[in-house]
Amino acid sequence: MTLGPSAQQWAAAVAAVRSAGLDDEIQLICHVNPDGDALGSMLGFGLGLRRLGFTRVRATFPGDFVVPTPYQRLPGADLLVPEPDAFADPRLVLVFDVASESRLGALAGRLAAAPASVVLDHHASNTGFGGVRLVDPQAAATSVVADGLLSRLGVPLDPEIAECLYVALATDTGSFKFDMTTVSVHELAARLIATGIRPGEISRQIFDSKPFGAMKLTGEVLGRAVLEPAAAGGRGMVWTYATLADLERYGQPPYVLDTLIDPVRSVAEADVSVVVKQVAAGEWSVSLRSKGAVDVSGVAVSQGGGGHRLAAGFTGYGEPSDVVDTVRRLVDEHLN
Ligand code: AMP
Ligand code: MN
Ligand code: MN
Repeated sequence: MTLGPSAQQWAAAVAAVRSAGLDDEIQLICHVNPDGDALGSMLGFGLGLRRLGFTRVRATFPGDFVVPTPYQRLPGADLLVPEPDAFADPRLVLVFDVASESRLGALAGRLAAAPASVVLDHHASNTGFGGVRLVDPQAAATSVVADGLLSRLGVPLDPEIAECLYVALATDTGSFKFDMTTVSVHELAARLIATGIRPGEISRQIFDSKPFGAMKLTGEVLGRAVLEPAAAGGRGMVWTYATLADLERYGQPPYVLDTLIDPVRSVAEADVSVVVKQVAAGEWSVSLRSKGAVDVSGVAVSQGGGGHRLAAGFTGYGEPSDVVDTVRRLVDEHLN
């Protein structure tokens, strides 16, 4: 059940790309609130399409057109357009790092209407939408799948494509720390670095560069974290939350909270970590992590979200305490 794409699916994806004329409209789409994998795999592949001679390639994602500052300088960022400027009726649609159509917002219709579409993803919870499905739950990042398709299309790696794919790979492996960091991940990283990109420089820009206000905000939100040793069948749960008012007080955009889960999940006394981030009045984006005791993907899917076994998310409603009550109950139902 965790098998990657079949030879037929790879062939169908190559055929779908080759079915487009060089002047046809090609729309690339990644998930709402894009992260390094969503943007890196999409832009790296978009640059590959340019190398093949395709002249009309656009990249977008649903919702507010906010590209996190560290990603604004990615090669291929000039392919990005806000959702309203996406091609209305593209000949070919390619989708990156999207576990379910809900993460495409109104752009899901663009995918359904296109004569050809290819979904590149690595979420175990992928719901199986789209035309040709290249979904590999064993892949550490969607950029692994993008690399597989680029090589089958005969596009050689160059430093620009490599930088995009490297950012995606480094993001989704937690800088080569997570379980998915396999031999083949390091082999791909080696091929990417061999193009001449500078991993130290890239990591500094992507992971180790934050506004002072974001650091202060992180301090305040971490300061209100709660440890519940009895939760998760006694394996422990730690949680915190951040409101829109918190963001406003420090003058920060929502995406600065995307990495807040990392210090929270490092708490030794808790298997499960939770960060509840306000999106709108009564609406919260919930990040879940486990060290192995809980299938948090199951928790997220039961709430209409998705993700991986040890890293998942969903949208919750009410007060943060309501969301945490729900998570506490569901975690007990999804103990491994
Ligand atoms: P995050 O906590 O936002 O870093 O997300 C962790 C994982 O869960 C990522 O693989 C996301 O793609 C996935 N994920 C987060 N939120 C959702 C959601 N609402 N629906 C589906 N998948 C999600
Ligand atoms: Mn993602
Ligand atoms: Mn990903």
